[in-house]
Amino acid sequence: MRNYKIAVIPGDGIGTEVLAAGIDVLHALARNGDFAISPQQLPWSSDQYLHLGHYIPDGGLERLKTFDAIFFGAVGSEKVPDHVSLWGLRLPICQGFDQYANVRPARVLPGVTSPLTNGKDIDWVVIRENSEGEYAGNGGRVHRGLPIEVATETSVFTRRGVERIHRFSFELARKRPRKHLTLVTKSNAQRHGMVMWDEIFYEVAKEYPDVTTRRELVDAMTTRMVLKPATIDVMVATNLHADILSDLAAALSGSLGIAPTANLNPEREFPSMFEPIHGSAFDIAGKGIANPIATFWTAAMMLEHLGEAKAAARLMKAIETVTAAKVHTPDLGGTATTKQVTQAVIAAL
Ligand code: NAD
Ligand code: MN
Repeated sequence: MRNYKIAVIPGDGIGTEVLAAGIDVLHALARNGDFAISPQQLPWSSDQYLHLGHYIPDGGLERLKTFDAIFFGAVGSEKVPDHVSLWGLRLPICQGFDQYANVRPARVLPGVTSPLTNGKDIDWVVIRENSEGEYAGNGGRVHRGLPIEVATETSVFTRRGVERIHRFSFELARKRPRKHLTLVTKSNAQRHGMVMWDEIFYEVAKEYPDVTTRRELVDAMTTRMVLKPATIDVMVATNLHADILSDLAAALSGSLGIAPTANLNPEREFPSMFEPIHGSAFDIAGKGIANPIATFWTAAMMLEHLGEAKAAARLMKAIETVTAAKVHTPDLGGTATTKQVTQAVIAAL
């Protein structure tokens, strides 16, 4: 029986609430399955930062390397600027472990209402380039505080980085029934990095004649997502563009509270990280009403990655049984608590 070592980083706000629920569900799944999990809690959070001055302690990434996967909640606190918490915890892990493929499925679960009348047509995977682009961290500020202050925020695209995310996207699209991939760029206005994205996409496309493609500018893509959801299957976009598109996809599929994501190092040289898309949600933190479904779906993606496809499918089925029965937290229009949804999913297992 395989025993998976999982690093658990709940982080801040509702991150701690939904990850506790996620661990309960994983234990329940393991109890009547044929694998075991050994979660280990790492208290890397904004509270810790405020006390000790760091999110990730010395040697923290080395320690993370010893795990099979990382299960992450959310980071962000009203007491710490967002760019400090993001660059303090989440980005060093994504970048340090070369988790360059961020995968975000979106679909309307049974019993969930989409704001779109044609929401049932949503069955998408948003693939976000997760290692470079607009979030490469390049730039600077000069003449700070003077009226002539200048700030630059430079996107960095490498041939290797672009080629590997395109190849990953074609491989993923190839495994889906519709085998369709939309390239989302902004190569009319951004004539260097985005034009290179387009060129490399069509080079890689030659190796995948079974996958049909479409090219869309990112602004037009937002309207396609709302007006013609059935014309989309898998989409690939840059770090910034896909960050935005995937929040839109989450909202169109009912709530940010159900959307999962995987930060993959496809070569498996380093552990991959699994997290709900949402943040620490100051407005509902501590109230016990955070929707844990995103975290459960995330757990299913983690199991799938670990090679436990059967357990992942069982978990998805239990999630869908519970959403179909409309055991919903307030974000989905219900009155259930995090605990009640969690217990319902465990019962459905
Ligand atoms: P958010 O995702 O925390 O919340 C946006 C809205 O969605 C809020 O109204 C919130 O109540 C709701 N929501 C989110 N998750 C929910 C859930 N599981 N159940 C029910 N409702 C849910 O985004 P924000 O308000 O922009 O950011 C809050 C903090 O989180 C900030 O510090 C931000 O930097 C951080 N953040 C972190 C991550 C991450 O760790 N990956 C992602 C996004 C935001
Ligand atoms: Mn985001």
